[in-house]
Amino acid sequence: MALPCECPDCGNPRPLMHHCQHCGSETLPVLLSDTIELNLKRGGPSAEEALDRLTHHLRRASEAGVKVILLIHGYGSSGEGGRIKWALHDALENNYFSDRVDQYYFGEDVAYASDAYHALLRRRPSLKRHLKLFKEGNAGMTVLLLGGNS
Ligand SMILES: [Zn+2]
Repeated sequence: MALPCECPDCGNPRPLMHHCQHCGSETLPVLLSDTIELNLKRGGPSAEEALDRLTHHLRRASEAGVKVILLIHGYGSSGEGGRIKWALHDALENNYFSDRVDQYYFGEDVAYASDAYHALLRRRPSLKRHLKLFKEGNAGMTVLLLGGNS
């Protein structure tokens, strides 16, 4: 995936979460898209570590003006992917992230052309190309709509 941000100081692409590797700038990067992907299972974290990672990204992303986060967490009835998914669902359903997250859609509920799919696209038309990934519903992903300064 292309880096979603640009450095305001030198114009090079740079990641959302880190300083610029080109000029060392710590200024908040400029977003090139209002939608970012976050892979919570990269590096094989525990469920708790994955939720910590999400907390940090949510703070930074909402400061930078991100509107949508596509979470990749994997799935399964057992194994690390499943644990991250269920911990995430549990946290969302208990409003753990409600200060930043306005609304959320579990991947299995937004199958192509379903009611939830259309509702989501009405809110965020820019998601159309991302939602192709969901086809019959994608139990390994969750969509977070961020609130605040929309
Ligand atoms: Zn820079």
